[in-house]
Amino acid sequence: MASFDQFTAAALDAATSPHLAGTVHGFMGRGGGVSAGVYATFNLARWIGDDGEAVAENWRRWRANYPGLAVASVAQVHGATIHRVGRGWGDARPEGDGMVTAESGVALGVFTADCAPILLADRARRVIGALHAGWRGTIAGIAGAGVRAMAELGARPEAIRAAIGPTIGLCCFAVDLELAERFAREIDGAAAFARPGRPGKAYLDLRGINRMLLERAGLKPEAIDEVGPCTRCASDRYFSRRGAGGVTTGLQMSFIALAV
Ligand SMILES: [Zn+2]
Repeated sequence: MASFDQFTAAALDAATSPHLAGTVHGFMGRGGGVSAGVYATFNLARWIGDDGEAVAENWRRWRANYPGLAVASVAQVHGATIHRVGRGWGDARPEGDGMVTAESGVALGVFTADCAPILLADRARRVIGALHAGWRGTIAGIAGAGVRAMAELGARPEAIRAAIGPTIGLCCFAVDLELAERFAREIDGAAAFARPGRPGKAYLDLRGINRMLLERAGLKPEAIDEVGPCTRCASDRYFSRRGAGGVTTGLQMSFIALAV
């Protein structure tokens, strides 16, 4: 009889980026877990109303795939606060939307369902970061704040490589025209990432805007990868709040750790 661990190891499917080679990282999707309903199936977030035993089983499966890694996370509030974490971080979840570390053995995990998960690494300096960038965090400057926090740990922005994971795309991210205009006002160059929509609406390219902001923070254009589809278009494989009609859904985890 095959061991359960072997079965679940094969069942978990995480998207990765060649840009982050040399780290342990992944953009998890919603498949491979046991949660039900709006949380189906691979929800790892304990704090959004999902059944505790189902979440625990999902974590058991994740740990079978990534043994020996503690996962640090924060209570995401759509801001631009970055926390410096280490192996002793434990289960603390202070408010914030990004984490950085120079220690191995701890994974930085961010949770999304349409917002942009951004993973970063300066491999030579051994400094990594993980960011959650929804529209509020994007306007608040989370991309630049994350790069600066990495630089404080010794990373060089021109050596940082990044991957922006599954995010709601320009195809589906319809917003009120006022919000598109606010982006254009508050972020120089953001207007180039908007498209007209129905009257009073516009479409925004959240990944494109964050890519621009990462470049502005010092990353080279070729150092920024985009991984995975639009979460709403692929809501069978990824949690999507818009795809679920704006209600609570499970959250997918994107994570990065330094290789030991
Ligand atoms: Zn789409």
